[in-house]
Amino acid sequence: RSSSEKFEFQAEVSRLMDIIINSLYSNKDIFLRELISNASDALDKIRFLSLTDKEVLGEGDNAKLEILIKLDKEKKILSIRDRGIGMTKEDLIKNLGTIAKSGTSAFVEKMQASGDLNLIGQFGVGFYSVYLVADYVEVISKHNDDKQYVWESKADGSFGISEDTWNEPLGRGTEIRLHLRNEAKEYLDDNKLKELVKKYSEFINFPIYLWASKEVDVEVPSDEEESSDEEESSETSTSEGETEEDEAESKPKKKTVKETTYEWELLNDMKAIWLRSPKEVTEEEYTKFYHSISKDFGDEKPLAWTHFVAEGDVEFKALLFVPHKAPSDLYESYYNTKKSNLKLYVRRVFISDEFDELLPKFLNFLMGLVDSDTLPLNVSREMLQQHSSLKTIKKKLIRKALDMIRRIADEDPDEYSNRNKTDNSNENEEKKGQYTKFWNEFGKSIKLGIIEDAQNRNRLAKLLRFESTKSEGKLTSLDEYISRMKTGQKDIFYITGTSKEQLEKSPFLERLTKKNYEVIFFTDPVDEYLMQYLMDYEDKHFQNVSKEGLELGKESKNKDLKDSFKVLTKWWKTALASENVDSVKISNRLDNTPCVVVTSKYGWSANMEKIMQAQTL
Ligand code: ADP
Ligand code: MG
Repeated sequence: RSSSEKFEFQAEVSRLMDIIINSLYSNKDIFLRELISNASDALDKIRFLSLTDKEVLGEGDNAKLEILIKLDKEKKILSIRDRGIGMTKEDLIKNLGTIAKSGTSAFVEKMQASGDLNLIGQFGVGFYSVYLVADYVEVISKHNDDKQYVWESKADGSFGISEDTWNEPLGRGTEIRLHLRNEAKEYLDDNKLKELVKKYSEFINFPIYLWASKEVDVEVPSDEEESSDEEESSETSTSEGETEEDEAESKPKKKTVKETTYEWELLNDMKAIWLRSPKEVTEEEYTKFYHSISKDFGDEKPLAWTHFVAEGDVEFKALLFVPHKAPSDLYESYYNTKKSNLKLYVRRVFISDEFDELLPKFLNFLMGLVDSDTLPLNVSREMLQQHSSLKTIKKKLIRKALDMIRRIADEDPDEYSNRNKTDNSNENEEKKGQYTKFWNEFGKSIKLGIIEDAQNRNRLAKLLRFESTKSEGKLTSLDEYISRMKTGQKDIFYITGTSKEQLEKSPFLERLTKKNYEVIFFTDPVDEYLMQYLMDYEDKHFQNVSKEGLELGKESKNKDLKDSFKVLTKWWKTALASENVDSVKISNRLDNTPCVVVTSKYGWSANMEKIMQAQTL
């Protein structure tokens, strides 16, 4: 349109669009799911605002929170309309083109590598998938605070914005008009759209209607002239026709003609899966729901889930998933972003997915939702954040989450606790190795949990896995370690370093290995911090074997040795100067190596020194 104001797409967005428009990706269907998801988000937003201000919804049709899909088969236009929050002119400019989301370049890279567009929604750029099927897109939008505007683009590097003076007023909300490419004509078929909505949007909480065409038989008296082409206007005459028919009973012949009528057909049943009894929900339904909330529509199943109803003072329903994979930035942004994947609902009304009071940071990898009956609906987010029942909810969620994680181990036939079972009859192939998978993806979160959550430290320590001098390349647990402890062994021995290979050569292990003691290898930098918080487990103390204080059961006093080497140790101490070493002692921790430098009990281990140095560089 000549009157429109022109804007350039931000460079990364422009690249993204180029790639999409030229993509050979065969699953073009995903655009519909992305548009419906955006419509649903917009409806969630206006509904949330309406909780504290009823006026925002307006009256009549405007107040209906719904999604409407229409086809214009002649003009090859598919339009999706919502009565959501809408976008102001500024929103249109910012959200659809000039401000790139943080995920944009990450997604561009990913797509260039794999060509797979299925995760587009996860990266926050789902809207642009419209260019898989359309070569020209109009976004008509009306926000309560602004006039109605049209955004339009042919994906040629720029977009236009104009005040809308020609379309029907929307009242409020957004209509996306896709001018379909020739190759995408299949999306003009009612049945195709019905199938897609069923497949991808079954968990959308708002009604989705299709302006569906229907062939109906209309009876007309046969004595009429054969010019019934002109008779299409008989839409209103159906009932009249019937009376006519009654009157004219003597006339034997009637004729039926096909006629196309349109009506809004509801395509989804808006089932809130979490409100149903866990017994009634199938594994397949949980998996599909997981795909929809994770915006990861691959074939993967979640590693685990828990679905429960909490009763008592604070009532809520919750559904939590352990995803099949950690997002690549889970730990990168651990301390700087507030990012939980938990959605909060109050009596089925979506409140927020940025509610950090519900789960501790270390459980941010979980996905799911909480629907509370106790929290008030008509208060601001800030007020909600301070509500007293949040603490109770949080506490229960942590418990349930840790139970769920423990269950992954309990059900895994590869796990130690099951390996020794004689009865392998109900061994579940599908669960085999699942805990190792969990540990590789999210083990660090468990360690961060031990550091951060004193209350659940022991529960979390149970979930800990590591390799040791006796684990034979497999992961082992503290319980397993304890079961293998030698009689008379009081402490749990561990050593820290950068790799297992390096540690295996350590002189600190010589004598311990010779005497058949097991030593845990901690090789992740976070382990050093971990061991500052994890002092004991089941009454056993942790002893770093490279530190002072190592005791190997009952050992003969080495008083004689001490005396005979007194001259040497004294000389050594002065030779090294007292600021370099605290003391020089006769020790029984070594076997072949003549001497070794040991860190004091409360000081940093040598490995920790290295970590700290690396951090300050
Ligand atoms: P995401 O949905 O992950 O934010 P999208 O690329 O799908 O990313 O959408 C970009 C943004 O455009 C949204 O965040 C929203 O602000 C805006 N938007 C898209 N569709 C709509 C809509 N139907 N109503 C209101 N805003 C919308
Ligand atoms: Mg989206």
